[in-house]
Amino acid sequence: MDDTTARERLESMLAELDRSIGVLRGEPVAVADRSAADAGSDLTDTDRAQAMLTVATTHRGAILAALKRLDEGTYGDCVDCGRPVPEGRLEARPEAARCVPCQAKQERRR
Ligand SMILES: [Zn+2]
Repeated sequence: MDDTTARERLESMLAELDRSIGVLRGEPVAVADRSAADAGSDLTDTDRAQAMLTVATTHRGAILAALKRLDEGTYGDCVDCGRPVPEGRLEARPEAARCVPCQAKQERRR
């Protein structure tokens, strides 16, 4: 995947996430929805929205970091070992910052 394609994919993912985050935060679209469906906001929905918001915000950060690496010319290199992240992995997750072994190590550390 070349840098132009990667950037396009990352930017469209970012736009999509920003839209979702806007909805989850209850900006205009959701507010209109809610008044129609009545403000019977139960805690479960709020919790679910909050959890989704956390995931979306984390994902957004990963995408922004990937765009920054594109700007710096280090996109596609693992941030830990510096080796190229396999093409197939970037196809599946353009925001991936690490190769598979380093990502596995990172996740074990948590
Ligand atoms: Zn690595």
